[in-house]
Order: sequence, then C-alpha cells, then structure tokens
Amino acid sequence: MSQNKPNSVKYAPIQHANVTFNALGIPIADQFDDIYFNNENGLAETNYVFLQHNGLPERWQTPRNTPFTIAETGFGTGLNFLACWDLFERTAPASQRLHYVSFEKYPMAPTDIAQAMAAFPHLSQYCQALLEAYPAPHAGCHRIQFHHHRVTLDLWFGDLHEQLPHWLPYAQQTVDAWFLDGFAPDKNPQMWQDSLYQAMAASCREQGTFATFTAAGSVRRGLQAAGFEVKKSKGFGHKREMLHGMLPTATPSVTPAARPDPGVPVTIVGGGIAAACVAWSLTQRGYQVHLLSEGIADGASGNAQGAVYPLLQVELSPLSRFHLSAFDHARQFYQGIGKPYWHGCGMVQLATQAKRLQRQQKLAEHGVYAPTMVTSLEADQTQQIWAELPAVPSLWYPSSGWVAPPQLVHHLLTQCGERLTVQQGVSIQAVTPTTDGGWRLTSEHGEEFHAHTLILAAGAGLLPLLQQWHIATEAVRGQVTQVAANSTSQECPVVVCYKGYFTPVLDSETACHCVGATYQRQFDPQHYRELAPEDTATNLAQLQSDVQQPWTHNLVPVADRAALRHTTRDHLPMAGWLSASLGIIGGLSSRGFTSAPLCAELLVSQWLGEPLPLSAELVKRLAPERLQDGEATLECAPYL
Ligand code: SAM
Repeated sequence: MSQNKPNSVKYAPIQHANVTFNALGIPIADQFDDIYFNNENGLAETNYVFLQHNGLPERWQTPRNTPFTIAETGFGTGLNFLACWDLFERTAPASQRLHYVSFEKYPMAPTDIAQAMAAFPHLSQYCQALLEAYPAPHAGCHRIQFHHHRVTLDLWFGDLHEQLPHWLPYAQQTVDAWFLDGFAPDKNPQMWQDSLYQAMAASCREQGTFATFTAAGSVRRGLQAAGFEVKKSKGFGHKREMLHGMLPTATPSVTPAARPDPGVPVTIVGGGIAAACVAWSLTQRGYQVHLLSEGIADGASGNAQGAVYPLLQVELSPLSRFHLSAFDHARQFYQGIGKPYWHGCGMVQLATQAKRLQRQQKLAEHGVYAPTMVTSLEADQTQQIWAELPAVPSLWYPSSGWVAPPQLVHHLLTQCGERLTVQQGVSIQAVTPTTDGGWRLTSEHGEEFHAHTLILAAGAGLLPLLQQWHIATEAVRGQVTQVAANSTSQECPVVVCYKGYFTPVLDSETACHCVGATYQRQFDPQHYRELAPEDTATNLAQLQSDVQQPWTHNLVPVADRAALRHTTRDHLPMAGWLSASLGIIGGLSSRGFTSAPLCAELLVSQWLGEPLPLSAELVKRLAPERLQDGEATLECAPYL
C-alpha cells in the first residue's frame, strides 16, 4: 500500500448545483452555463462515447477476480453511471463486480436528478435506488453499495483537484476505464489540467482505457504527455471528433499485490456489529469467513435499540468528516438489507443546558452541515417535531434513526450464507504469529486455532489482545434501562437525545423504550454485567431532569442491561491492518452502528487493494498504529 502523504485540503461546505431545465427538459448547470447532456439524446451519447469507446460491454466478458473499476470526472445527473449499471446488469456474467468512482464538485439535488432522469423511464428502478441512498452534499467520499455489493459507487464530492490527492494514494493501478466527462474545456478550463491526466495515468491498470466527448488539442496533448495512446474518432451526433485511448504500460511506482485466494477462509474474532459487517463485506465479495466468538450480539451490540446518527462537532473536524461519510453509508447499508432493520424516524438533540445551547448556536453559525443532515431548531420548532418535547432549542437530524441491534447482527450473519461458518462459545485470549505468516489463536480453555488472515473485531474483548502491540484503548461500562411505555411516551416519534437518549417504542407488542446510558470508566471487569440499581435510577433521573415533561415521570423500568464500550482517546474508531495478515476494527464506542459498516468496507478494500471509501488522510487517522505506545496525539476536540 502506498504511503504517499496527501496534500492538505480545504474543508469548506459544498454547494448543490444550480440547475435550470430548458424547453426540452435538458438540465443546464448555471455555475458553468453548459448542458449536462446532449439535447438530442443524452443516453445515446453516453452509450457511444463512454461505454462503446471504453470497450463495454465486451470487456466484462473476460473472467477476472477484481471488480471492473471505472472512474469519472463529473457525476452530474448520474446518467453515465445509471446507463453503465443497467448495461452491466444486462450483460456482465454473474461473477463480475462493478466499482464506479465519480468526482463531483457541485452535487445535484436529488429532486433535480429525479427530474433530469424522468426522460429515461427504463432506468427508473436504478435511479430510485440511487436517490434512496444519495448522500448529503459534504466533501469527501460517500460509498454506496447496490445489489448486495455487486455494484459499488464511490461518490467523491468536492472539487476534483482537491479530492484527487486524497483518493489517488490508495487507488494506484486500480482503474480499468476513465469516463472523462465534465463540461467542455472552454467552459470549464479549471478542470482540464495536466494534473488530472497524470492522476488518470497513475490510477490506471495496464491497458486501462479512457474516452471523452471532446477533441480539444490541449486535452489530447495532456493525455499523451501522461502516457496515454490517444485516438480520434467520429464524435457523437453533430460533433466532428472525440478522443479515446489506452495506457500501454502502467506507472511502475507500485506493483499491485496478488489478490488473496478466496478459497482460504479469513478468521474473524468477534460477534457484534463490527464482526458482522466485516463478514458481510468479505462474503459478498466471494470470500470464505470463519467467525470465532463468545456469543452473537451479546456485548455492546446486544441492546434492544441503538440510535444511529453522526457525531458532529462544531467544525468539520476529522471526527465530523469521518461521521459524515460513515453515517450516510450506514443508513443506505441498513436500508439495503431489508426495511424492518432501519427506522429512519429522525433524531432530536435537545439543548437543555447552556453548554449544549452554545454548541448549537456555534454549529448553526458555522453552517458547514447540509440541512438534510442536521438543522438548528427554535424552541417552538422542537415542539412541532413532537408536542410533548420541552420548549427548548434543538438540533434536528432528519435522516437519523435507530436499529434493533441483535436482530440486525443475526440477520447480517444469516445473509452471509454458506460462505460463513460460526463457532460460538470461544473466548480468544492470546494471538501469536506463526512461521507461515499466519496466526495462532488460543482460547481461554486452551483450544488452538490457526488463521491465515485474522481480523480482530471483538469490541472491548480486544483490550487484552491489543496489549502485545502496545495499542492503548479503554473499556467503558454502560448500563441501559428498558422502560414500559405509557400512553404519552408510546407516541414519541423520534429518537430524543439529551445528556442521555430515549428511543421510540421498539414495537407495539413489547411497547418498551430504551433509556440510556451510564458511562462508567472504573468498574470491576469480572462483574461488569451485574446490574446496578443506582444506574437505573441515574438513567431515569437524567431523562426526567433534561426533558422535564410529565410523561417522563411514570415510566416503569422493566429490564436493564450492562455492556462494555470499546473507546479510543481521539474518539475515532480503529480500522486498518497492523500487518498483511492482521486487521483490526474496534474503538467504535457507542457509535458502532454508525461506523461499523464503513470501517468494515475500509478494512476489506485495503486488504483487496480496491479503491478506499475514505480520504487518505482519514485512512491514516483511523489506522490502529496511531494508538501505539500511548503516544497518540489528541487532535480532536473532545465531544461535548
Ligand atoms: N457524467 C454526468 C452525467 O452522467 O450526468 C454529466 C457530467 S456534466 C456534463 C459535468 C459535471 O462535472 C457537472 O456535474 C459538474 O458539476 C462537474 N464538474 C465540473 N468541474 C468539476 C471539478 N473541477 N471537479 C468535480 N466536478 C466538476
């Protein structure tokens, strides 16, 4: 893996495209005064220029063990992507996967995409899936998985030249075809620069291709100088010429590692959401997984309900940027695996204390978050969400929600199918390297297991295992209280966060809410599961004093549960490889259901040498070795 240092990048909020539609219904970008696609037949131009001149669908017929990877400048309406996806579904053998990476400076609003794509009804099912998963307009990578990971879309929002340095270090020699789109060079000269052509060459596999609608001399010369063989062909429609070509030899700066053998199982230690997501990401890519665990969803992933929302600081800190990518990914992931597991009801964060109000005001002033992610409400607006909330200002996260963790984890593991084997009742206490480059695992009862590739994903169970690599993390005990709903609380439509949190009823049958959670750093590790009545009292008192509504006073506790969170000092998760055969995913704290799906994708993409779903800078910040020797610097401000 390349260790290139990414350039520093500005993290300004990004704008949606300003779009108008002409008399023919063709979208026009006001920022560039140019059309998104051809007035006569945009789809025919896509087919002719980008698909045919990159040798598609013929190239999909050749068997391969890596995803066919396409990169594009300018996602726009998504027409190229949707047409490509449609062609892929219709023509590619079942064994093929498609990875489509697209850069977009001004993401179109979903309503504009829907209007633009209405002209192509045969793509409507794909367009619908895209719109359901479409991320909020924040800079950075947004990974979306379709059709059980058969099709991966990485949307990199932000200026191409700002984003490329954060994508390229881990994308060298991964791309099979470039769709060089973007508005015409004379309308958009800032995009058509030599640094783009050089990045294209560095990212291309040997014999990787490109195609573009333009025949501008500067583009041809730039591509040739970067190493491409460039040809001219008849342009689409009235256009005289277009360019296409191939990279005869890949830039030899990195030799891609051989793809791991799918026949050799990967061993995962852990049975919670992190382990389930890694198992999912691997099995969907055709890999065998052997999972060793004490139990399934019996630790921090075992509470009856878990809120899923991004952890956003006032500024676009690394933590915020990670959460913006992770949250949108988690939401589309849960939506994609079956509706009952995702409850997208929204979350309201009450500013009941002066400190929280101050934070809310600063967050609103900074204005770096899209309103579809979080928006600031006045006291009366809070009560419009639900009249039984207190009249205090709040932050409203409309796309957030909750999941039922144990059902979700079980569902994911079941969906992994025959490629997954699970061995429960195993508590791994020691991990040692073996001479063949693998690992020997020893359980508390002295059983031994061998792993060629090992991924440690056991939450707080990682603590003793990580010591040998001097990785400093912490376990924090949390007790959650389930309460029976009363006639008012059962109407609560949203997740309510204050110092603690309160969830809508789990279902009408059980009619219980979760009220959480305590945060206890000092505890007896042998007896942390024992329930403390004073913790129940603390959870209820917190709800009553912060929410201050009559309905909070007669909620009867019915069950409590205690578990350990696994935390890091900079609040960022750990996800990465300590060696070629040892991956770690942990430190997800109370946010496992928000961060696990993306961390799992990161880990698996790294292992397979596929383009990564996060910027190179965030990849480094998540790397477990940052916590080695206890020397990790606290670059993130503590979360309020
Ligand atoms: N491929 C698109 C489709 O299928 O609808 C059409 C692309 S449209 C002709 C050009 C796109 O390039 C616009 O969405 C525009 O915002 C984007 N763009 C222009 N300059 C850019 C830059 N510097 N970085 C990233 N995207 C850019």
